[in-house]
Amino acid sequence: NERPKVAFLGAGGVGKSSILQRFMFGTFQDNYIETVEEIYSYQFNENGKRLNINLLDTAGNIAFPAMRQLYISKAQAFVLVYSIKDEASFNEVKTLWERIKHVRPNILDIPCVIIGNNLDQENDRQVEKFDALNWACSENLGGCFVETSAKEDKGIQEAFSLLLEQFLTRRHED
Ligand code: GDP
Ligand code: MG
Repeated sequence: NERPKVAFLGAGGVGKSSILQRFMFGTFQDNYIETVEEIYSYQFNENGKRLNINLLDTAGNIAFPAMRQLYISKAQAFVLVYSIKDEASFNEVKTLWERIKHVRPNILDIPCVIIGNNLDQENDRQVEKFDALNWACSENLGGCFVETSAKEDKGIQEAFSLLLEQFLTRRHED
């Protein structure tokens, strides 16, 4: 179908599936079930504005680089997820963003949200919010960054609002 696809990308285990589960169904599971690929249809309906999109949950598995390349070249929007307790997963988000910029010429027209998940595990934090926000700002993504907890339902609504906003108004260079 013709709905815009939003690809959820990021290292395995950072919470992509949990964020989607929380948003779509209001549930959370403690056990880890590895994703192959899952598609959820969603209709935003805010302030009289409607938007039908497909939310695409992906495997973080780099064993399928061709798959990842396909998502990067074909998706209409991106949600890039890392875990605040895993520095390597933040570096993976940076790498993904570099690839997206490289492959997609109209980068400012592409909605993108950066999520730092596992906010409830503050004691294990490796990625400072300040550093992540700094990086996001340097990439014109400052207004598209949010920390979340899928477990405690923090920041999840905000993350999807940021996504919708960008579908309705283009991101600006400033
Ligand atoms: P994915 O590989 O990126 O899809 O990650 P999952 O959504 O499958 O989550 C991996 C593991 O982290 C699972 O055991 C989840 O229960 C757990 N998890 C996901 N989000 C959170 C969170 O916000 N807080 C905590 N404490 N655990 C989480
Ligand atoms: Mg998953």
